[in-house]
Amino acid sequence: MLRRMRFRHPKRPALLLAAALLLGAAGAYTVKPGDTLFSIARAHGTTVEELTRLNHLTGATIEVGQTLWLPGEVPPTPAPAAQASDPPALPQPVPAGTSQIAGVTVTAPARLRMGDAFVLRLSGPRAGQATVRFPSEVGEDVRLPNEKLTPIGAAGEYVVLGRVVLGKTTPVVYEVSVGGDLVRGSIPVADLGQTVQHLNLPPSISGKLEDPGRKAEDAAVEKAYALRTPQVWTRPFQPAVNVKAQSSAFGQPRTYVAGGPVLYHYGTDYPAPVGTAVLAVNDGTVVLAGKYPVRGGLVVIDHGAGLTSLYFHQSKVLVKPGQKVTRGQKIGEVGTTGLSAGPHLHLEMRVRGEGTNPAGWMNRIWPR
Ligand SMILES: [Zn+2]
Repeated sequence: MLRRMRFRHPKRPALLLAAALLLGAAGAYTVKPGDTLFSIARAHGTTVEELTRLNHLTGATIEVGQTLWLPGEVPPTPAPAAQASDPPALPQPVPAGTSQIAGVTVTAPARLRMGDAFVLRLSGPRAGQATVRFPSEVGEDVRLPNEKLTPIGAAGEYVVLGRVVLGKTTPVVYEVSVGGDLVRGSIPVADLGQTVQHLNLPPSISGKLEDPGRKAEDAAVEKAYALRTPQVWTRPFQPAVNVKAQSSAFGQPRTYVAGGPVLYHYGTDYPAPVGTAVLAVNDGTVVLAGKYPVRGGLVVIDHGAGLTSLYFHQSKVLVKPGQKVTRGQKIGEVGTTGLSAGPHLHLEMRVRGEGTNPAGWMNRIWPR
């Protein structure tokens, strides 16, 4: 992520990296005596027009105690039609692959979307000796082009975890080789079809991007992304909070400051009251736990196979680095710490450091 952003915007990498981590807020502004639409707009770096549009106001009159939603904030319980949601899960993919090389059958998804995690399935007597590469991702932050094969189920069956980088709609190319044989496949990638959201962040929030502790925070997270430990989960993934609503969907393209570049939301936001239990999505080892300037109360769990789950903005962190956790174990409590404007959990599921759609993981062992 860092490298890609530097490439695109070499002059402001630090700001952009931090901006990419920003959360959609679940809070709102309550009108106080003396407020006007203009004064509220000015204080939050937005315009009267934008406030009028967001709140469906019909005139300039506002009342003390009235709740106003600000740019980048979506009510936690909006009308069904307006509710943010992750892109729906794809139907079971048509096996496009089932390509055959001597002793190995390769099965790949027929199609993918930006931010999808997926697996290549390898079977056959020589599957365990195969080497898998994703040449389309070289230069796109692939840290280990030759990923390890993870045995599954029956003997001779393996999967390799892949993911589609957000912002990239060129086909994913994979290569599987055994000895001198090689099979090469290509999977088309579709956009998520989301319209760009313009946040126009107020300085009170964007100022956290300048926190001197941020560099160490980013470095610590990058280190977690680089981990390559054996897969430890054996059961399906479960939600991290017991809420259904989302205040900001995975993959949402955004600008954070007026005229700024379009960046993607690498996780999903779930609004919930401060103190709501945050649960481990699956078994793993805590690799980071503590308070950080941007991500706030943060826990990072390594699940092995290049997969990490991240939980941002917690009011309380109840685990320590090195600690083993089990699926559903309480690891902290929802809060609004760090770069956040209202209580919510921001959950990320990173595959080799790239954000993948959390919805694609829930209630299954592997994404499809
Ligand atoms: Zn978020």
